[in-house]
Amino acid sequence: MQKTGLILLAAAGALLGQEGKLRIIAIGAHPDDCDIKSGGTAAKFARAGHAVKFLSVTNGDAGHQGEGGGMLAKRRHAETQESARRLGIAEYEVLDNHDGELTPTVEIRRQIIRAIRRWNADIVLAPRPNDYHPDHRYTGVLVQDAAYMVVVPNICPDVPPLRKNPIFIYYQDGFQKPSPFRPDVVVAIDDIWDTKVNALDAHTSQFYEWLPWVDGRLEQVPKDPAARKKQLGGQRVQPLSAATRATLERRYGADRAKQVRYVESFELCEYGRQPSLEEMDKLFPK
Ligand SMILES: [Zn+2]
Repeated sequence: MQKTGLILLAAAGALLGQEGKLRIIAIGAHPDDCDIKSGGTAAKFARAGHAVKFLSVTNGDAGHQGEGGGMLAKRRHAETQESARRLGIAEYEVLDNHDGELTPTVEIRRQIIRAIRRWNADIVLAPRPNDYHPDHRYTGVLVQDAAYMVVVPNICPDVPPLRKNPIFIYYQDGFQKPSPFRPDVVVAIDDIWDTKVNALDAHTSQFYEWLPWVDGRLEQVPKDPAARKKQLGGQRVQPLSAATRATLERRYGADRAKQVRYVESFELCEYGRQPSLEEMDKLFPK
């Protein structure tokens, strides 16, 4: 028992390095996806002193009903920088690939391999490769395709390979085929919920213009900035699934889990380093 514990500690120590600080890169298809899926967890990681980077694989230049192209990409880039500032994360990079037309090419795979290596990532967050949106789907595929190549020296030899394979983690989603999302680790984010909503609020072009237009509720968005932010916070609440509730109880205990209203949950990818659930519980913020 004690020996197992020591081995676990040693493994965690090796991952954490001398300062005990992790390097996390969250990857999304669009310049608000990382914020939606992991904004609360990212802010908690950052407050604990870990280095967090968001990476958008497309520039978001199709995400609006009345704007587009370079001017929209520029506007959305500015929104990412404000969101990063509000979350307190180190960096938000946007790659200059067209929105709505992402394909899993070797060229874009290389962009992702280089980004993960340059960040010297211990943990990589990304979508699962099954999703209604092709950009989300192919971002999942691209990150999976990079998961082993980040350690292969002859691939992208201009950036040194990682000597340790990172842990690859999926964001939560609601898709059932070919298999439903499995919440391996759940992070309660009630204590940082306002920060997350404040970060989403920075994406004015999305949460107050584009997404309400898609849903046919543009007229219902309040003009007053405080009122629209309040409405946004209310819209982002999602009921917890039974599986999420069970993982939440395992991690926080039944009593505390009952009080939790907001969570972000994550699934371990089969590629990359394979930590135990106990180690994942230790690595992720509580
Ligand atoms: Zn998206």
